[in-house]
Amino acid sequence: MLETVTKGFRSAKNRLAGKSELTPELVDESLRDIRVSLLEADVAFDVVKKFVARVREKAVGEVVQTTLTDKAGQKRKVSAMDHFIKICHDELEALMGPVDTSLALKPKGQLSGIMMVGLQGSGKTTTTGKLANRLLKEGRKPLLVAADIYRPAAVDQLKVLGERLKVPVYHEPGLQPPELAKRGYAAAREQKCDVVLIDTAGRLAIDEALMTELESIKSNVHPDTILLVCDAMIGQDSVRTAAEFDRRLGLDGFILTKLDGDARGGAALSIKEVTGKPIKFLGMGESMDKLEEFRPDGLAGRILG
Ligand code: GDP
Repeated sequence: MLETVTKGFRSAKNRLAGKSELTPELVDESLRDIRVSLLEADVAFDVVKKFVARVREKAVGEVVQTTLTDKAGQKRKVSAMDHFIKICHDELEALMGPVDTSLALKPKGQLSGIMMVGLQGSGKTTTTGKLANRLLKEGRKPLLVAADIYRPAAVDQLKVLGERLKVPVYHEPGLQPPELAKRGYAAAREQKCDVVLIDTAGRLAIDEALMTELESIKSNVHPDTILLVCDAMIGQDSVRTAAEFDRRLGLDGFILTKLDGDARGGAALSIKEVTGKPIKFLGMGESMDKLEEFRPDGLAGRILG
């Protein structure tokens, strides 16, 4: 996972191993390795530039503390590598953080709504099921609305997920998605559910008809949270998609899927910085329990090894 991003930091570590002083030359050489791998991983160009500049500013000209207290409370000598990696860790965390996994739902028992948006194939339907599973575990009563009417398989797919999770699925053939969403809320009230999750339609690329439809679903039901599901494998493309969805819909956050595959990591590192909106969860596999809360600290740790 995230092998491409990790590569640059690994070569920087090798370069700094055994060095006692963090000279400007060493910092520049290490940052060159990192810059190449971040660009290769499809991190947005401006984000790479900013990250490199921040690390350089902190690493050059700072007096390296000679000791550091580790987790066990032991004091140990700090090498140039420890110091440099700590700066990288802090900056990676700052780029992706702070942690924000809140779904801004109303208290249990009052009806809330989550609207799931994203391009076709991003993992939107699967993630809607995963989120319902998570809400069930929190003691909520979800209802799923199948509003992806252009891909009949999506309605069936959601029904199968609903059966598996024992969660009701609302769908009425012949209705347009904004009306389906509205009636889904009514169905949730009737069935004493307290969270509606709307699985909206995706397209292969953003188009005007898709955006207009999503805007009218939003204005019909006023969901508490709008989440964009995006495929982490797609890199800079998903960042452009995210920015456009955010401009039109005012997103509350993102769920990045397929982080268990060979995602290059570009989206994970760029989305927050580019849109200002947080990544809330990561999809780590196809099954319903493979949804992790997004921890910038944890991902920074995984990247740095
Ligand atoms: P939608 O068109 O956006 O609704 O996408 P789907 O939910 O149908 O997902 C598309 C494909 O991606 C399916 O084969 C899913 O099983 C798969 N998928 C979704 N999320 C993940 C994930 O986190 N990891 C992996 N490996 N596959 C996923």
